[in-house]
Amino acid sequence: MLLENKNSRIQQIHFSEIENSGVSLFIKREDELHPFISGNKYRKLKYNLAEAAKQQKSTLLTFGGAYSNHIAATAAAGFSYNLKTIGIIRGDELANNLAETVQNNPTLKFASEHNMQFEFVSREAYREKTTPEFIKKLKEKFGDFYLVPEGGTNNFAVKGCEEILTLGDEKYDIICCAVGTGGTISGIINSLNRHQKAIGFPALKGDFLQHEINNYILKSENWSLNTNYHFGGYAKVSEELITFINKFKSETKIPLDPVYTGKMMFGIVDLIKNDFFKKGTKILAIHTGGLQGIDGMNLFLKKKNLAQIA
Ligand SMILES: *Cc1c(COP(=O)(O)O)cnc(C)c1O
Repeated sequence: MLLENKNSRIQQIHFSEIENSGVSLFIKREDELHPFISGNKYRKLKYNLAEAAKQQKSTLLTFGGAYSNHIAATAAAGFSYNLKTIGIIRGDELANNLAETVQNNPTLKFASEHNMQFEFVSREAYREKTTPEFIKKLKEKFGDFYLVPEGGTNNFAVKGCEEILTLGDEKYDIICCAVGTGGTISGIINSLNRHQKAIGFPALKGDFLQHEINNYILKSENWSLNTNYHFGGYAKVSEELITFINKFKSETKIPLDPVYTGKMMFGIVDLIKNDFFKKGTKILAIHTGGLQGIDGMNLFLKKKNLAQIA
C-alpha cells in the first residue's frame, strides 16, 4: 500500500458561541494526515494508487478546477510515488499566459512544482469529461494512464473513506462532514454504527448529490444532507463566513478552509445555537483538510478589498 493506514486525532471544541448549549462538539483532524495530501484526499487516493500500481500504470490523469484540493493532492501523491501526473483543468483562458497563471495561483504553482502537467480545457469541454469520446482523445494525446475522476470519487475512494471512522468513534451520536462530490460522506455512511447518524453539508448548490451518494452507499437510512449552508455556491464566500472562520481559529486554534470545512462548521454551530440537537448529543465533525486553498482565496479577497482569512 503506497499510502499507509493512519488515524487522526480527535479534539474537543471549546467555542464561545456554543458554550452551555448542552451539546458537545469534537473534531477529527484528518487535515493532519499528511502535509500535502490532505484530509479526505489522502483517503480517496489510497486505494486508487494501489489500483494504479496493480494495473502497472505510470501516469495518473485527473480533473479539477484551478484551486482544487484534489489537483494539489494528486500532484503531491504522484511526486512522492514516481508517477507522472496530468491535470485537466477547467478554464482554457488560464492557458493564455501560463507562466502568469501559475505564478498567481498557489494551487497550480504547487502542482506544477510537483511536476503535474496541465491541460486547460474550456468549460464546455470540461462538462464532457466523462464521455468515452473525450477520454479517447485524452488517450490519443497522452498515451496510457490511470484515470482518477474529478474530486477523486469512485468506489476505491469510498472504500478509503470507510477508514475515516475508527474504533472508539462509536461514542459519537452524529457525524458531520462537508460534501463536494459525495464520495467522502458515502464512506462515512457505510462505516456508521447502528445508532449513529451522518449529516452532510454540501459546499455547492444543486440536488444531484442525494442521487450520487445513493450510488455508493450500502444502507439508505441514518443520513441526511443539510443544504442551507452553501453560501451561494461552490467557492462562494461571505463576510460573515470569513469572520466566523477567523473567530473559530482565534478561539480554538483550529484552521478551517473557506470552501468546505468552514461552511460545515458554520452550519454545525448555527444548528447548535438553534437547538437542533438534543441536549447531551455528542457530535463529531470531520476536518477534511483543504487548507491549501486558503492562500488562493486570500488573493481573491485581497483583490476585492475584503477581509482575509487569518
Ligand atoms: C474535496 C473536499 C471535500 C469534498 O469531498 P467529496 O468526497 O467530494 O464530497 C470536503 N472537504 C474538503 C476539505 C475537500 O478538499
